[in-house]
Amino acid sequence: MHPLLPVTRGLLTPNRPLADLTWLRVGGPADYLFQPEDEADLSGFLAALDQGFPVFPMGVGSNLIVRDGGVRAVVIRLGRGFNQIEVGENTVTAGAAALDAHVARRAAEAGLDLTFLRTIPGSIGGAVRMNAGCYGAYVADHLISIRAVTRQGELRVLTAQELNLRYRQSDLAQGWVIISATFRAGPGDPEALQSRMADQIAKRDASQPTKERSAGSTFRNPAGFSSTGQADDSQELKAWKLIDEAGMRGAQLGGAQMSPMHSNFLINAGGASAADLEDLGERVRKKVFQARGIRLEWEIMRIGERDTLNRDAEDEK
Ligand SMILES: Cc1cc2nc3c(=O)[nH]c(=O)nc-3n(C[C@H](O)[C@H](O)[C@H](O)COP(=O)(O)OP(=O)(O)OC[C@H]3O[C@@H](n4cnc5c(N)ncnc54)[C@H](O)[C@@H]3O)c2cc1C
Repeated sequence: MHPLLPVTRGLLTPNRPLADLTWLRVGGPADYLFQPEDEADLSGFLAALDQGFPVFPMGVGSNLIVRDGGVRAVVIRLGRGFNQIEVGENTVTAGAAALDAHVARRAAEAGLDLTFLRTIPGSIGGAVRMNAGCYGAYVADHLISIRAVTRQGELRVLTAQELNLRYRQSDLAQGWVIISATFRAGPGDPEALQSRMADQIAKRDASQPTKERSAGSTFRNPAGFSSTGQADDSQELKAWKLIDEAGMRGAQLGGAQMSPMHSNFLINAGGASAADLEDLGERVRKKVFQARGIRLEWEIMRIGERDTLNRDAEDEK
């Protein structure tokens, strides 16, 4: 173990492969994977960790490409100590590791409407960071506040306004770890909420490759969203349409493919490397730019080093 790494009650694993912790199942190892036991363990670790040491909090990896060379950082992944869900009269507070789908279901059972979270495959930490949403509702519409641990290990409470949530973005500072979030939720009949969620699942299965390895939408829609992330139907510039127009639906590179079912979904069709996926995405961006003069922006976050060779060379020094 690295001599500068603090002692923890949690799990600290050197050179831990991350591929199995992501939906796309690609990528190299983290220098260290830290799975804190609880809040005190997380803040104690961050306070004691040399401030020059980069950290990267991950959720369940449903919006991530980890590059093949891996991540030169302490990757923090929250687990059991961070997945409690508390339902109030018109609020729901969930630990950052709780899955969006579980939170939506627990809320619905209690007659509270957070149904928009049901079909998003991430965790609450990732949902807040990305201002996740679908079917016309976004985290920004419901979030009251979060609790987070700073890179220095201090506990902070931030309001939704302070996070400045917008289309698939927020102002969370680098290295801060969200540990829980409190949402406002309107009332609803539990059975009606259950059936709405069942409809949403069916709608998704009919229109998106939900059984494939993907990370959801690959590129942001270039326009058509207001600052809060709300859909604005008056503008119709959708990434999938631009990709279709550029002739890239179904395009393949190595094991990577733009899904024939939904052209803005990049999938690992079998044996893809992170480089296959990223290079196919860049090829799509180029084709769309050539066809329409529009630069698509990645929605999927890409982290780490591209090249496995660099790492081997560094190790030999
Ligand atoms: C099939 C499929 C469908 C999808 N559909 C949608 C959709 O309809 N709407 C939508 O918005 N997204 C969708 N996504 C994308 C993805 O599920 C969301 O972006 C989700 O919110 C990511 O959560 P995660 O836990 O997987 O985060 P990760 O992918 O692990 O990380 C994403 C970002 O969140 C940060 N993060 C995660 N946890 C924390 C934490 N505790 N503290 C600080 N930062 C953190 C990471 O640093 C990273 O920057 C879809 C993905 C898939 C695979």
